[in-house]
Amino acid sequence: MTHVIAQPCINVKDKACVDVCPVDCIHSDDNSPQFYINPNDCIDCTLCVDACPVRAIFAEEDLPPEWAQYSEINKVHFGK
Ligand code: SF4
Ligand code: SF4
Repeated sequence: MTHVIAQPCINVKDKACVDVCPVDCIHSDDNSPQFYINPNDCIDCTLCVDACPVRAIFAEEDLPPEWAQYSEINKVHFGK
């Protein structure tokens, strides 16, 4: 299991989640529109969920249906 960052992060990218993640699994780069969670490293601590000002982060199983594709989008950023 993992947590996933969805559409609300796009163009916000304020890094609030990065600051609270205990395993440093949230990353992005200047060319990416959002941050992503590495599913191989996330320990599901949930600390990032409440830290996000735009509620962009969900447990993978709780992703709203309209953002289901973000599970794959997060994985792809890390080359799976
Ligand atoms: S749930 Fe915890 S481990 Fe996973 S990305 Fe969020 S802060 Fe990091
Ligand atoms: S806290 Fe939310 S908006 Fe900010 S970078 Fe993380 S996911 Fe994106």
